[in-house]
Parts: sequence; structure tokens; C-alpha cells
Amino acid sequence: MPLGNCAACGKVAFVGARGLCPACLKQEDEDFDRLREFLAREPQLTVEELAERSGLDEGRILRFLREGRLIMSQASSPLRCQRCGEPIPGGRFCPRCLRELEQSLRGPQPQDKSSLHIADRIKRK
Ligand SMILES: [Zn+2]
Ligand SMILES: [Zn+2]
Repeated sequence: MPLGNCAACGKVAFVGARGLCPACLKQEDEDFDRLREFLAREPQLTVEELAERSGLDEGRILRFLREGRLIMSQASSPLRCQRCGEPIPGGRFCPRCLRELEQSLRGPQPQDKSSLHIADRIKRK
């Protein structure tokens, strides 16, 4: 693990993959578990309501959603597919676009720069 500034508390520490020190990483996992419990009980909660109930800020909840770790009901999710703009419960793309993107990656233009770029983005997810 590289030595660096923790993205959450700013302390110099050995930070892991998510740029967090071990203490913040543990805290984040606990927060995440709490959010998941709230959603398991009330799946229709919006991000604002989740923030209110859990005491966590909306930005953090949104980050969990974008990372695809937390999944909300499609109706209350603030996320949109980055390709077609459809509401999605988590991640970056709707299932249809994901399928189309995968197909275009395997498609006839493997040297097409834009599809290679998308391939990179999917792999990093
Ligand atoms: Zn920290
Ligand atoms: Zn889409």
C-alpha cells in the first residue's frame, strides 16, 4: 500500500485502493452496511431521505451509488445512464447500454479509439 493522504480524513497513512486510511476504510464499510440496511427495510427511500436517516452526507451516498456498491430502486435513484440518460439504480450505464457497449467492443472496429476508451472505463468500474 502506498503512503499518502487519506481522501476522507486527510491524515498521512498507508492508503488502500479507495484512497482511504484503514480507519476510514472501516468507517466507510460500516456506513455502507447501514445504508444497505435502511434500503433493505425501505427500498423506496430517496438519497435525501437516506442522508437524513443515516446522518451521512448525500455526496457520499451518491458515490456509493456511482461505484455500483449501493443499489436503489430505479424510481428513487438520482443516477442517469451516462450514454442514454435513462434513470438507473446504480453504476454508470443502464443494462441496455451496457449490453450495446459490450457488443460494440466485440464488434468489427476493434481499433476504433472511442470504443476502446469506453472499454477502459468499463474495466475500471
Ligand atoms: Zn482517513
Ligand atoms: Zn443507457
